[in-house]
Amino acid sequence: AGQKEEGKTTYEDEMEEAGGEGESFHFVWWKGAEQQAEAQEENKESNKSNNSAPAPKSGEGVDRSRCTYEGCARPNESCRFYVITKDTKAGGRDWSSLLGMVICNSCYARFRDRGRLEPPIAAAKPLVHFEKRCTYEGCSRPGESSRFHRITEETTAGGRDWRGLLGRVLCERCYTRYRSAGTLEPAVAPPKRTILAEPGQRCTYDRCLRPCESSRFFRISKETHGGGQDWSRLDGMVLCNACFVRFRNRGTLEPQGGQP
Ligand SMILES: [Zn+2]
Ligand SMILES: [Zn+2]
Ligand SMILES: [Zn+2]
Repeated sequence: AGQKEEGKTTYEDEMEEAGGEGESFHFVWWKGAEQQAEAQEENKESNKSNNSAPAPKSGEGVDRSRCTYEGCARPNESCRFYVITKDTKAGGRDWSSLLGMVICNSCYARFRDRGRLEPPIAAAKPLVHFEKRCTYEGCSRPGESSRFHRITEETTAGGRDWRGLLGRVLCERCYTRYRSAGTLEPAVAPPKRTILAEPGQRCTYDRCLRPCESSRFFRISKETHGGGQDWSRLDGMVLCNACFVRFRNRGTLEPQGGQP
């Protein structure tokens, strides 16, 4: 094989010697750039095949297993697909605008029966089912209501901000309360049967003998039931102990035995 002449270096040797920093770096850079370019080219290729729809298989012609009406709800689900030809005359319709299309059974039937592919206006949304129980923790009767309301993004009743209650179910009472007051808290504390009058108050019975002298005062409310009497006409009155007891026992504020 070839003998090297002394003092002369081959091309390869030159490359090696020049190596280290300069030339070989240059060479490596180019080699890397080349590989990079190749890799990019490959990526492009694979992207292309990933993104684009598969090309129609040659020889098969039209894909007859997919409805080509773009508004079709279930283009792949049909027991049968129809290719529309110029001989298609079902229903006595003019099918010429669909010539060459493949459509599913339901689209076919729709066009045949109605002369158009557009589905009829969608029926009203089915009622959402939800547990009929008020989710307000302070609700007095969460399971009892003539009607329950589920709060959705569309809930705007009363112009209130319902977003804090999104998805919750409210009974009619709580719903109405929030709609009118903007809060679920009951507006009025539950009335107690008998409330002591504030200090300094006096018996409001105008014929009371000692309206300011009493160990106790009673505020009469709708909830007052003492003695089984009908307290409703005294609603809101404050009575001294004597008047309270008198009414409770006799159903009247009139002092017994007339005025002294
Ligand atoms: Zn269809
Ligand atoms: Zn409730
Ligand atoms: Zn009194």
